[in-house]
Amino acid sequence: MAFHGSTRPTVCGNLFPGSDATPNPTGPNAPAGTPRHPAEVPSPAEMEPDRPIGYGAFGVVWSVTDPRDGRKVALKKMPNVFQNLVSCKRVFRELRMLCFFKHDNVLSALDILQPPQIDCFEEIYVITELMQSDLHKVIVSPQPLTTDHIKVFLYQILRGLKYLHSAGILHRDIKPGNLLVNSNCLLKICDFGLARVEEPDPSRHMTQEVVTQYYRAPEVLMGCQHYTSAIDVWSVGCIFAELLGRRILFQAQSPIQQLDLITDLLGTPPLSAMASACEGARAHILRGPHKPPSLSVLYMLSDGATHEAVHLLCRMLVFDPVKRITGSDALSHPYLDEGRLRYHTCMCKCCYSVPSGRVYTRDFEPPADRPFSHNYEQSMHSVWQGKELIHRFITEHQQGKRVPLCINPQSAAFKTFIRSVQEQAVFVTNLFQIHALKMNNDLEM
Ligand SMILES: [Zn+2]
Repeated sequence: MAFHGSTRPTVCGNLFPGSDATPNPTGPNAPAGTPRHPAEVPSPAEMEPDRPIGYGAFGVVWSVTDPRDGRKVALKKMPNVFQNLVSCKRVFRELRMLCFFKHDNVLSALDILQPPQIDCFEEIYVITELMQSDLHKVIVSPQPLTTDHIKVFLYQILRGLKYLHSAGILHRDIKPGNLLVNSNCLLKICDFGLARVEEPDPSRHMTQEVVTQYYRAPEVLMGCQHYTSAIDVWSVGCIFAELLGRRILFQAQSPIQQLDLITDLLGTPPLSAMASACEGARAHILRGPHKPPSLSVLYMLSDGATHEAVHLLCRMLVFDPVKRITGSDALSHPYLDEGRLRYHTCMCKCCYSVPSGRVYTRDFEPPADRPFSHNYEQSMHSVWQGKELIHRFITEHQQGKRVPLCINPQSAAFKTFIRSVQEQAVFVTNLFQIHALKMNNDLEM
């Protein structure tokens, strides 16, 4: 089972018309000792961006060649890191998460580029595994998407999600574009720019500025001040339906219309399911006509929408987050048995083959070995202090590892990279400011 024609060139051209394959003129032979790096660093290998492959919520991602082994990897520049305390905390959180993750269905940091001395430290570059495509591109492409594909994708999404939730992390922006895939159907959840640690105290307010609208859970649309990992499961339900039907399940123009489309399918929710909704949203639902559920239309998504598939879908698309199935429980649904078998028979790294057959792992869907800690955020009170903490974190992270990598700012490839980042700067800055205002309470926790 493999994808044909889902190679990277489809990615580049659409995003960056006219910025085709940047030449890679200098490579590891570029002049040593750039102004940004202390002379005592022993011949650092230099990193040359090749071309852009996409954007995250808060960053630009490029395909690059690791000069140490010639391997193609992804390079992400984290923008506006030291603009203010909120951005400092957000980036440090994402960086720590990327270094924390150890799971085959969750993208993690392979390396962080060596920072210059702290006085010149303005930018952070992270290296991750390079994936060929993402689920959004697969869904809108003409290539066939069989039930086997859907089962193995959904299995891996839920497997990664179980790991994240067991570490106490809410992703908060699960969408097809944030699910990277390779031609061999391996899938990794990426982009933790909006991820945060689960808030156990229901009286603490959490930001509503999360999740791309089409995948946004009803409790978030209804202005609930506190939400749980159930918001990610809702997003996965929407993606499951999108894989089956190859079109967005709830494609609305506004949050209100989004809510209307959801109630068109699920019916008017009972009052108990709207207990924590804001007054305006509840009034909007109650003002409208009473709608009966019309879940049977899910059978018309495609031939793959079997009774088993629709049953699981209906357990994920539950209006009341308390009654929605968890990621972990969804993995026990019989619909995913074949996906599990396929994944662990020929795709995973946790099982292996011997002449007499396959030796399976003891835990097919392992949780995190410990919760992700965000206590360090309490001790970050200024941008300068944040800079020191992040600088120390990266330096300590690199100790004893391979030859450190750094950017060669003189190279033509890097100059093209920076130009493309700057072209996006207005968008990214504006987006960030909106989030900075609204996420203040959220991030101060
Ligand atoms: Zn396995």
